[in-house]
Amino acid sequence: MGTGILFPASALLFSILIVILFFSKEHYKTVETKLYGYLIITNLIGLIIELLCTFASYIYKTNPILSVLILKLYLVYIITWALLFTVYVYYISTSPEKMVKRARGGIIISSSFWLFSVIMIFVLPIDVIIQNNFQTRYTAGPSVDFTYFMSFVLVIVMIYCLLKNIKNSKNKKYVPLFVFLNLGFVGMIFQKFNPSILLMTYIETFVSVLMYHTIENPDVRMIEQLNIARDQADKANRAKTEFLSNMSHEIRTPLNAIVGFSNLLLEDKNLPDASKDEVKDIIMASDNLLEIVNGILDISKIEANKMEIEDKEYGIKKVIDELVKLTKGRIAEKPIEFKVSIDETIPPVLYGDAQKIKQICVNILTNAVKYTKEGWIELKINHVVKDDICRLIISVEDTGIGIKEGNINRLFDKFDRLDISNTATIEGTGLGLAITKKLLDLMGGKIVVQSVFGKGSRFTISLDQKIVKNPTIKLDEDVKVEAKVQISSEKLVLIVDDNKINLKVAERLLDSYGIKSVSVDNGYAAIEKIKNGEKYDLILMDDMMPKLSGTETFHELEKIPNFKIPVIALTANALTGEKEKYLAEGFNDYLAKPIDKEELNRIINKYLNQE
Ligand code: ADP
Repeated sequence: MGTGILFPASALLFSILIVILFFSKEHYKTVETKLYGYLIITNLIGLIIELLCTFASYIYKTNPILSVLILKLYLVYIITWALLFTVYVYYISTSPEKMVKRARGGIIISSSFWLFSVIMIFVLPIDVIIQNNFQTRYTAGPSVDFTYFMSFVLVIVMIYCLLKNIKNSKNKKYVPLFVFLNLGFVGMIFQKFNPSILLMTYIETFVSVLMYHTIENPDVRMIEQLNIARDQADKANRAKTEFLSNMSHEIRTPLNAIVGFSNLLLEDKNLPDASKDEVKDIIMASDNLLEIVNGILDISKIEANKMEIEDKEYGIKKVIDELVKLTKGRIAEKPIEFKVSIDETIPPVLYGDAQKIKQICVNILTNAVKYTKEGWIELKINHVVKDDICRLIISVEDTGIGIKEGNINRLFDKFDRLDISNTATIEGTGLGLAITKKLLDLMGGKIVVQSVFGKGSRFTISLDQKIVKNPTIKLDEDVKVEAKVQISSEKLVLIVDDNKINLKVAERLLDSYGIKSVSVDNGYAAIEKIKNGEKYDLILMDDMMPKLSGTETFHELEKIPNFKIPVIALTANALTGEKEKYLAEGFNDYLAKPIDKEELNRIINKYLNQE
């Protein structure tokens, strides 16, 4: 039998293995996996025919017809495999859109090519050469030459596909083709000198094994498991967000009482000075707690992809004024000079999400104040205009503790606080910059940090905003510090809240302005009162109430003829964007719990201080 049989025998083992491997795995039926399936099955059949060829030469003398049939079948195999491989190469070299258009034509051409080759192989004569007492056996003659010629044509097509796609030739899918062309060339030369050793099938098996690693053959089960895992994670994430938003509501409700009563205590003339300081500390601690709750909520909202950018027209001056005012308030008694340098030529009305821009700047400015003991902080705002876009360049520089170079890339990780030994006494959660970065990402902005440890830092933001040439909004004048209002005439407010303590907070707060109030602990009672014709100047309406929510109560009230009393949503649902939601429902205004004194001043000024 000679050594010639060793090649196909070992190739057969590999071929069987790869067929088992491929078909035992559940795979998606794509054109690519289908072609691959055909290729490896063809290869397996080819190897069996090749083994039969060894016997065919032995029976040539006794049964020439069967012998020639087997030998010709082998030629059919050669053409079939090469054709399938060519189709594969053509497929990976053609864009899916073109492939759709050419599919029919391709199938007709390749089937005709195959049919023609098979007929010719069977029609043309074949020479069976047996020498040296079966030591040398091979086939030759027109049928064999024809097979070589047709294979050559296919190789030309493959090379053409490759050259046409030379840019993508680094794609791993072309590796089997490179291997096939090179090994095929070497194999042909080798076979020229040792015609009885059939190398081609061996090479093709090798290429098939290689292709197993280069075709797209995603593991169906793994993908299904990943999908299940993703769904579970999504569900858990949603539950987390829901939990956090409920938590926030639950934390804000008692905080409202703490902040409200503390503010009232502070106004008490009889309170000793020492107690006043303690009350101030209570308010500061509550503010911090509130900031933490808001931060956690914001980050979870961003991570659940629920943070929406709400673009609308806004006046940039007002935003800057508010930032300056807030920062001055935060610096308070600290020995820090606050320098402000604003480019006066910034287009006055821009289009974007002013609330988020403010949030970003507040985070950075607050950090500058927090992490600077003395010296100065500078807020610089510049701009560049291109077409109708204004690029805002906002930088905040401080002479604070600075950031170590190695730590700069950790700045934006959530809950990561740097240099704990230095900053442990400074309040913070490590969320501010993570939120800042994510909000900027959402708005297509950038942030750059420069810092010298021990000397100071500079945070620079760049953000593109559309310029509004013909604004529809009216620009407000300077931000007014809402002074404590004096009520000129007697006013009566209806407060609706299911929480008894919160009712008391609101009553006492209004009382401090000399405003009388009536409280009810549910929506039905409020509707009843208005239907009975009771007159109020303002309604403060909590939203989350059992049975009838504040929003539902409000819509019922709206249905009452001649109902004109302004209604303010007073709620602990204070997620970013919540205010807009209530305004869209039709509420006249919005007041978040815990009630901010300045906001309350504003509301009272606006709704109760006019004749
Ligand atoms: P935190 O609530 O801790 O302030 P941030 O996310 O806002 O959280 O900031 C993350 C960390 O970056 C801070 O803990 C602090 O170590 C550092 N950092 C931020 N801003 C400055 C600054 N202006 N100077 C020095 N360090 C800063």
